[in-house]
Amino acid sequence: MTARVLVVDDVLPNVKLLEAKLTNEYFEVVTAYDGPEALAAVRRENPDIILLDVMMPGMDGFEVCSRLKADPELAHIPVVMVTALSEPSDRVRGLEVGADDFLTKPVNDIALFARVRSLVRLKIMMDELRLRDQTGSEFGIVQPTAETSLEVPPDASILLVEDSPHDVVHMQETLSQRFQVVVEADCQAALVAARGGNFDLVIVTMNHADYDSLRFCSQLRTTEETRQMPILAVVDDGDIERLVRALDLGANDYLMRPVDRNELLARALTQIRRKHYQERLRQNYQLSLEMAVTDSLTGLYNRRYMATHLDNMLKQAEDGGKPVSITLMDIDHFKLINDTHGHGAGDDVLREFANRLQRYVRGVDLASRVGGEEFVVVMPDTDHAVGRSVAERLRAAVAEEAFEVASQASKISVTCSFGVATTLGGEDSRSLLERADAALYQAKRSGRNRVASADLETEPKKAASL
Ligand code: GH3
Ligand code: MG
Ligand code: MG
Repeated sequence: MTARVLVVDDVLPNVKLLEAKLTNEYFEVVTAYDGPEALAAVRRENPDIILLDVMMPGMDGFEVCSRLKADPELAHIPVVMVTALSEPSDRVRGLEVGADDFLTKPVNDIALFARVRSLVRLKIMMDELRLRDQTGSEFGIVQPTAETSLEVPPDASILLVEDSPHDVVHMQETLSQRFQVVVEADCQAALVAARGGNFDLVIVTMNHADYDSLRFCSQLRTTEETRQMPILAVVDDGDIERLVRALDLGANDYLMRPVDRNELLARALTQIRRKHYQERLRQNYQLSLEMAVTDSLTGLYNRRYMATHLDNMLKQAEDGGKPVSITLMDIDHFKLINDTHGHGAGDDVLREFANRLQRYVRGVDLASRVGGEEFVVVMPDTDHAVGRSVAERLRAAVAEEAFEVASQASKISVTCSFGVATTLGGEDSRSLLERADAALYQAKRSGRNRVASADLETEPKKAASL
């Protein structure tokens, strides 16, 4: 994997050393020598990750990091603080201003590369989700989501997988201050628990006596239900090999023993906050997919969806030799409803019309709004006589009970005309819709509030010879 890394340090040899190491690993490197320069470089160079020195004259690394994390345009770029400070309190301060990690100088190369790889991998996934979110909000479908605006839910839950009783107590005590904690000593039992429970974070220690915890991490990643659960790995101080394997297998973050309480809390919070951000982005995406195929006024499928669905259905039906019927309908004198009662009342009528449609068609039928006051119901495995009777039922459901609208005291009488067409094989959606449209025209011409059949004389030749 390649990535653009911004290295920030006020000491030239430090920059040059990191630059050489990273370039050697085929990372692309850009550099900055103080805080303001770093902020400018982030905007200009759009790096995938930032390695940030803490102690710099003027604006220090904490300040640079807080500014980045407060800017919605830049907050998604991972920041690793690289520093000579080694007190847990410094690490915690870094995490609290939003840094993703805190590496102590002299930096272990292998740990550094593993960290950069894992953070960049995560960023690529997040960028994709954020892009979809942006597209959805540009289309006015969903509200854009800002990571910085999300709170950690009060009932967030953690699965702690640890087989040493002493360490369990230490970590459980700390985490329970803020989260619901479930402890599981056995990795296999923990897998079952993780699959069944919707945990916000799994914390696993890397030295279980009778199970390979790396395997546990990889199992979490390959199982559908747990694939998105963040993993925080706890490794023995200096066990770089396990740390690197854990990160490469998909652990999101790690802690070194002895576990510092505040650092544990800070890292857990970061992971949980990020998980909720990701979930929000995924939900928005799902929503925008739904909105792309539905009509926002009535919630029915839109024309594009209906046409694609009908084409697929016609292909299937042809293979199975089964008839498909459709009815195309158009509300009578709808313009008059708008003119008399106002556009808002017209909208209410359309919504109520859609409700009745959905109530009176069968579960397998697909109801859609294909134009202003035009609707189509697609009926699989339905011959012409049944198709007509469904249309007749809908006609009665509209005509026999006047429509209530919010702005009017008295109900509004509404009627609708229907054209029904049935395939007899080898016909595409366009031709079927055209015939239904011709029938609808007949229904309008002969007085409205009625159902007309597509003229069988105009059925395709192939159909007539069957
Ligand atoms: P006909 O019986 O021949 O179908 O007459 P009609 O008045 O229903 O037909 P026409 O096509 O002349 O008018 C349809 C009207 O529907 C015109 C348009 O302003 C209105 N319309 C289209 N979309 C909407 C909508 O989303 N909301 C409202 N309130 N009106 C709409
Ligand atoms: Mg009309
Ligand atoms: Mg019309």
